[in-house]
Amino acid sequence: MLPSNPLDTQIMLHTVSNNAKLDKVNFNATKSDIIIYNNPNAEKTEWEIGSDKIERSKSTTHLGLVREDNNKFDIQPKIQVARRTMYSLMGAGLHGRRGLNPLTSYKIWECFGLPRATYGLESVKLTRKDIENIEKYQRGLLRQLQSLPDRCANIPVYTLLGAKPIEVVLDIRRLSFFTNMIRQKDNIEFKVISRQLAVKDEDSTSFTVTVRKTFQKYNLPSAYELINNTPSKEQWKAMVKEATNKYYKNNITEELKRKSTLKHLSVQENPLDEPHAIYKYVGSNPHEAEKAAIKPRLLTGTYTLQANRHKYNQHEVDATCEMCKHEAEDREHFILHCTTLSEAREKHLPKLLELVPEITGRKEDLLQLILDSTHENLLYLEESCRKSKLVPKIEQISRNLLYELHINRTQTIARKK
Ligand SMILES: [Zn+2]
Repeated sequence: MLPSNPLDTQIMLHTVSNNAKLDKVNFNATKSDIIIYNNPNAEKTEWEIGSDKIERSKSTTHLGLVREDNNKFDIQPKIQVARRTMYSLMGAGLHGRRGLNPLTSYKIWECFGLPRATYGLESVKLTRKDIENIEKYQRGLLRQLQSLPDRCANIPVYTLLGAKPIEVVLDIRRLSFFTNMIRQKDNIEFKVISRQLAVKDEDSTSFTVTVRKTFQKYNLPSAYELINNTPSKEQWKAMVKEATNKYYKNNITEELKRKSTLKHLSVQENPLDEPHAIYKYVGSNPHEAEKAAIKPRLLTGTYTLQANRHKYNQHEVDATCEMCKHEAEDREHFILHCTTLSEAREKHLPKLLELVPEITGRKEDLLQLILDSTHENLLYLEESCRKSKLVPKIEQISRNLLYELHINRTQTIARKK
């Protein structure tokens, strides 16, 4: 019930309870709450339903969402539910280091955690901070599932998995909620929406205004165009998929260009819906999944080598490779040059060169091929490499190579200490 003053409230409660009695139904006063919006100083604090009292409360759960009387929405319970859900699944092996393919872990989050964390949120007005708070939780979790350290940049945390930021998840849900309503033109919801579209101005917090802005954001047809010419569910799904991916890809491409540590990372065609090749061909074998944890760290520049340690602590840490002592141990030295690790290289590199002979002699490209064979810098390999379905094979060889380099490095350094 949504009455506008205390007296109306009481009259409506009497009416409801009398009518219910005729049907031999009783209302449970302890399960009902009264919330007063927009009037913090209201004097009346209790009402009656039948002979029971209902007291005014500060917050209540309505359709699964906690509503507070200051009209704010409390996001914390949502995050707690998500955290508990994921915690309960950790025992079943959902953990970055325990050999579950990160894509499988992400699917589990998408099926069980994400719907709980975001249930009903498309219909409430959230602040930027609210969204950032859930986003922070999701991002932390996605990092953990991929064993990426906290210092890893945000973009690859999502794009490697093909994961959607919360903001996009809610936008998509809001858009489909809207189009579902305008599909049924006899319904009362449609009439409400049409009216709101006509009367609400840009600054309003109304749902239709939020939706209208979402259409603009993704460069989709306007609300009116959609009402006049409503696409089928399949068409609409495809339109939203294309528009959101395009928007997101444009946004992150600029940001990626500014980050030199991520220069070897490519972004796939539809970063919100398809995973990066780095995980795509890993399979479900736990040992393969364990090996697959090394490459993302090297690709995102978060695998700690002497050069990285030196950068953060220039006076105490020398950048020189601790194993061969020839030169600074950076990503290229570790993967291509370090003589101490040549055994692993001799085992795997020839296989790679056999698949992609064009790469011989181009050091920078070879490094790129090993780190991310789908990068646009390697477009000249398009014909032979991408189209002939070599990517899964290249990925497998480079995964094995990097894993073995990692193991050998760890062992060599441990022996020296
Ligand atoms: Zn070295």
